[in-house]
Amino acid sequence: MTGRFALMIDPVAADVQRSDFADTFTQVDAAAPALSVGELSTQRGDGVFESIGVIDGHAQEVVPHLERLAHSARLCDLPVPNLAQWRQAIDHAASQLGAGESVIKLILSRGVEHGPTPTAWVTAAPAADFTAVRENGVRVVTLDRGYDLDAAERAPWLLLGAKTLSYAVNMAALREAHRRGADDAIFLSSDGFVLEAPTASLILRFGDRFLTPAPTGGILHGTTQLSVYEHLAAQGFETGYDRIPATDLTRADAAWLVSSVRLATAITSVDGTPLPVDRTLTAALNRYLLSPRT
Ligand code: PLP
Repeated sequence: MTGRFALMIDPVAADVQRSDFADTFTQVDAAAPALSVGELSTQRGDGVFESIGVIDGHAQEVVPHLERLAHSARLCDLPVPNLAQWRQAIDHAASQLGAGESVIKLILSRGVEHGPTPTAWVTAAPAADFTAVRENGVRVVTLDRGYDLDAAERAPWLLLGAKTLSYAVNMAALREAHRRGADDAIFLSSDGFVLEAPTASLILRFGDRFLTPAPTGGILHGTTQLSVYEHLAAQGFETGYDRIPATDLTRADAAWLVSSVRLATAITSVDGTPLPVDRTLTAALNRYLLSPRT
């Protein structure tokens, strides 16, 4: 089966130990009504989520996604998810997905206003076909995100390191990139450092050294970036995290946007300045990212 469906989940407290949570989720057709009209927190974007890549029915990097979901929930003062319960829901969804690429999303929202519990659900659907963009790369523009690199620490209520449901700004940045004739964007801090793309992490190559912006700067710590770093380190490359000035972008020997479903895509230009593209390494990274990973 390669269809779309959802599992509505009754959240169970994080400390509840059970071997079977199957009675805590219910499968519904993606087209069936499932959310209450009182689900105001979702309308406000007051919740957290994850998107997991699924290859031939194998959900990739489930533990790092679950850990980030729990981290986001903590930052948002949401009940910490019971990871064993979510893991079982993911496995149940993945077991129904057939060959090819799919995406499983985990959503935990604050729930119905004045309601007793959060609302939680998992969706499963076929992934878009990203073959062309993996091969051809993306042109990016840099966009000011309006916060300096220390804003996340100084103002934690901005939730800059949480993967919240509020992606309106990220989607607006993609539309702005398209208006400027590019395919994607890279956010810059107001003090001139490189952050992340609206839906992906950034990896730069300088010689045999790979660099990514430090996640302390109010960006998501990408599960794909972590996985790519493990792969590169195993091949003897040096990998690191740093404060990266925006002026370093066009000095890179190569650069990629990486994320769980689109995987690795080479950056071919930044604000109209061409960047060298390593097609061989990009293809190797995508072969690795398409292999089963835990
Ligand atoms: N940064 C942002 C803002 C994202 O939305 C995403 C993924 O959606 C990422 C980075 C990459 O994260 P991951 O590799 O875990 O998909």
